[in-house]
Amino acid sequence: SSRRTTRAGSPMPPDDPTEARRLMVERQLRGRDIVDEAVLGAMERVPRELFVPEQERSRAYYDAALPLPHGQTISQPYMVARIAEALAIRPGEKVLDVGTGSGYQAAVLAELGAEVVTIERIPELAERARESLAAGGYGDVEVVVGDGTLGVPEHAPFDAIAVAAAAPGLPETLYEQLRPRGRLAVPVGGQLAQRLEVIVRSPEGPAVVHSVPCRFVPLLGKEGFRG
Ligand code: SAH
Repeated sequence: SSRRTTRAGSPMPPDDPTEARRLMVERQLRGRDIVDEAVLGAMERVPRELFVPEQERSRAYYDAALPLPHGQTISQPYMVARIAEALAIRPGEKVLDVGTGSGYQAAVLAELGAEVVTIERIPELAERARESLAAGGYGDVEVVVGDGTLGVPEHAPFDAIAVAAAAPGLPETLYEQLRPRGRLAVPVGGQLAQRLEVIVRSPEGPAVVHSVPCRFVPLLGKEGFRG
């Protein structure tokens, strides 16, 4: 007889979402290098299963990005935590989330106490995200449809901006919509591999304070790819 294994050493997540979430936080976040208790707490509270398409729901707490309609992806939980931790969000801060996708990152930012505006270029995804956010109790998040490389000038300036898609370079317009000392997290590089950079707006100009390898879907638009 042969023994069946799933992926090496990774047992199936339990059916109970609360328990699956607890394990996700322990194994995927604390077990790596996420240490910010506010972020760990937020990740333990946001019901990720609400943001995952129906047919992917059993994999909501997998250590992976998952497919969304229109060839997009809901980011891996670790990357969401990584961005949230790098931005060091404090309650009451105004935060722009570029590339709403499922709305999950926006929900985590809202759970951290931020006032969140999120922008998505694909109207169907924005509509779906709006529904998921409302279902999760994050109805205060403002979901805008448009080219997020141009930011959301009517809500600027922002204390922090999180970009969930890869940009070819520093998106100037987003940087300009930061408050002084505001933080911008953005994957910068080619379409296949990038570095997640955290840039602080300072009087001397953009200061890169953090940079780690990552991989995101491309940011399309005026200051993105295929501008
Ligand atoms: N944060 C999302 C990740 C979504 S993937 C989540 O948690 O689910 C990145 C998203 O960025 C995709 O939905 C894609 O359509 C969107 N996107 C790409 N370029 C964009 C642009 N210029 N403006 C707004 N959204 C954009």
